[in-house]
Amino acid sequence: MGCATRSTRARDARKELANAILSVRNLRTQFKTDAGPVKAVDGVSFDLFPGESLGIVGESGSGKSVTALSILRLIPDPGRIVGGQVLFRDQDLLQVSDEEIREIRGRDIAMIFQDPQSSLNPVLRTGFQIDEAMLAHKQANSRTAHERTVSLLKKVRIPAAESRAKDYPHQLSGGMRQRAMIAMGLANSPQILIADEPTTALDVTVQAQILELLADLNRELGTAIMMITHNMGVVAGLCTRVIVMYAGQIVEQGPVDQIFESPQHPYTWSLLRSIPRVDALRHERLRSIEGMAPDLLRPPKGCRFHPRCPFRIEKCLVDEPRLEEIHHGQIASCWVTMDRARAEMKADELRDISPGAASGLRPGEIIP
Ligand code: ADP
Ligand code: MG
Repeated sequence: MGCATRSTRARDARKELANAILSVRNLRTQFKTDAGPVKAVDGVSFDLFPGESLGIVGESGSGKSVTALSILRLIPDPGRIVGGQVLFRDQDLLQVSDEEIREIRGRDIAMIFQDPQSSLNPVLRTGFQIDEAMLAHKQANSRTAHERTVSLLKKVRIPAAESRAKDYPHQLSGGMRQRAMIAMGLANSPQILIADEPTTALDVTVQAQILELLADLNRELGTAIMMITHNMGVVAGLCTRVIVMYAGQIVEQGPVDQIFESPQHPYTWSLLRSIPRVDALRHERLRSIEGMAPDLLRPPKGCRFHPRCPFRIEKCLVDEPRLEEIHHGQIASCWVTMDRARAEMKADELRDISPGAASGLRPGEIIP
């Protein structure tokens, strides 16, 4: 591996940096509790590129939603963003005025949630709420807004869009409400759509339809999508790049094909082992990994995943690994990595994946 490769990579990295539409840098968000600060997001950095579809995956409580809410400064009390930058169009969204961030929300960066019921006002007609999303940002007058609402409802494939626009949210099915929420998200043609588990509450068939819709919209409109999910199947179906979060941090990141083919962090590896078929859309939680998600008040020393990791070595208990490029475009924070676990610990043949099983460092042998 010569200098040419390295300098090409450095050039690629610079080019990518220049092209990002959203750059999150060392984001830290905490919740104040009587027992001390809960470090929900602890030093997260990543880029989002125009028109891409980026997955953020991790089990419940890993900091996915808090990351998304921090980007738009929607963290509820007692939470606080305590550090970092969110760079969008040459400005740091963590520094702009309250008025500016309100303008950016819904106009440039839209967000849709798992439960459209809680985001739609039950006493207002669905179409009227989408009209209002445009009028609030002065993107239309009321007549053109309504025309655009009907065309958006058609675009998200709501049948009989004109009459459906007059329905109240409770008159729509769960899937139709989620489509209406997506239409509202798209009302001002945002550059970025953040979708936080938008299909989790829906049945499997409807989930698949909504994901297909998002993929089409991503292609047709060029809207960059940040898809938050606990489901690797959703990532496989929609995303080109994926970020894996564990205990408030990114542990692995890279192109979806590459990560599915050759995950390097044992956590990613175990997430992928837990899906029976990569295209399966299931409600299941990611529970294949033994042990509990760590306490974010007092995260484990060394690597945060070490108490659950079958491949841990002594170093993992004391030294915190940093994110490093393992293969081109793929970064992971692990002292062992799956390349080594495969070569030295026969990872692919493992049946017992209990903590320390592959490396021989069993619980009883850990010195506190
Ligand atoms: P997820 O990955 O499931 O979306 P979240 O980002 O919602 O996880 O939460 C990350 C962590 O932040 C949680 O494990 C929890 O400890 C903490 N947290 C989130 N919201 C609050 C809150 N309102 N008050 C206190 N702690 C919170
Ligand atoms: Mg969440």
